[in-house]
Amino acid sequence: MFAKPKKYATERHTQLQKVKNTLPSFYETIHWMNQRASAKEAYRPTEVEHIANVITHGIWIAPSIWATLELLCRSHNAAQFFSGLVYGATLVFLFCVSTCFHCVFYRNKQGHLKDALHRCDRAMIYIFIAGSYFPWLTLQPLPSNCWASSMKWLVWLLAVLGIIYQQVFHEKYKMLETICYVIMSIFPFPFIIQHDFHGKTELKIGGMVYALGVIFFKMDGSIPCAHAIWHLFVVMAAAVHYYAILNYLYPEIPLLDSSYLTNS
Ligand SMILES: [Zn+2]
Repeated sequence: MFAKPKKYATERHTQLQKVKNTLPSFYETIHWMNQRASAKEAYRPTEVEHIANVITHGIWIAPSIWATLELLCRSHNAAQFFSGLVYGATLVFLFCVSTCFHCVFYRNKQGHLKDALHRCDRAMIYIFIAGSYFPWLTLQPLPSNCWASSMKWLVWLLAVLGIIYQQVFHEKYKMLETICYVIMSIFPFPFIIQHDFHGKTELKIGGMVYALGVIFFKMDGSIPCAHAIWHLFVVMAAAVHYYAILNYLYPEIPLLDSSYLTNS
């Protein structure tokens, strides 16, 4: 009468043992990364890396749309609305273009579409840097020197120059391309931190998270899923910056002295 449960328990134990024995061999069959690419070639991700690249940016498309709508809902004037629209659009497009590129790269490894989307993906980095600065340069009172007041438009000029360079020398001088991203990210910073404002700390922390992420951006073929880890650093840095923009530039209750918000 009691033999059945005991037999059942033994069978369960044997099944569990089988699963435990198969797990390490399954782990070993996964191809985690390929060899590093040469200086003028693009790295070819493994299947797992392709999937990780798609997921790590794809899941943020819907939250970034929601985040943009939140900024628009909290806008109390045209300057806030316009800044929120520009910044939000660059955030949404960053994740959309990246996800499209990684999906197409996964399915169509060497096609023209993959090539075109790769260029768009890289161009979006410049556009996103300019877009991330835009609310700060538009809604914050800036020091009254000509550099600071021109910076709002200068970041877009830099983005255009960066995109032109990147289109002409696509995948040719990869280290130089990364240096261009870093220079563009840092360039406006000294001009806007000359005065005290809420969000300065978050702006610095976000910048540091991006800088740490760049280490992984350059590590394809050295550690598994390096590009997906870079994606996660982008998400973390963007989240820190968004938090600061939402809290300090789009407070739920409008600031009593919000006159500067209209000086765009
Ligand atoms: Zn990517």
